[in-house]
Amino acid sequence: MQDGKHCPECGEDIGFWPVFSAGISLRIRCPHCGSILTYSNCWNVILVLICIVNLLIFLALVLTDAFKSWSRLTVSFIVVLLTWKAVELVIAKYLRANNSLSLVDTETANDA
Ligand SMILES: [Zn+2]
Repeated sequence: MQDGKHCPECGEDIGFWPVFSAGISLRIRCPHCGSILTYSNCWNVILVLICIVNLLIFLALVLTDAFKSWSRLTVSFIVVLLTWKAVELVIAKYLRANNSLSLVDTETANDA
């Protein structure tokens, strides 16, 4: 069964946390058998992520420039961080629902 929730090696549901904690590295370790998995065809997701990150940095700069104080800088940093975590949450949910997991070829990965 090829979907975004079940490990192609052992067939178990990998759960939400491994996907969320992997962040943008997209290297997910199966909590059941330890296989290294990744999502295929996820470049559209990465492209959206890069756009969101750029937008976040731009927003942070606008916020700090407008007020020019350390407290504002700290607040904007926290806002960016929280927004980023929310984005990761959405991405993890999206990948689980719409993408398919595939096994990373560990032999070729070790050659690098
Ligand atoms: Zn597994």
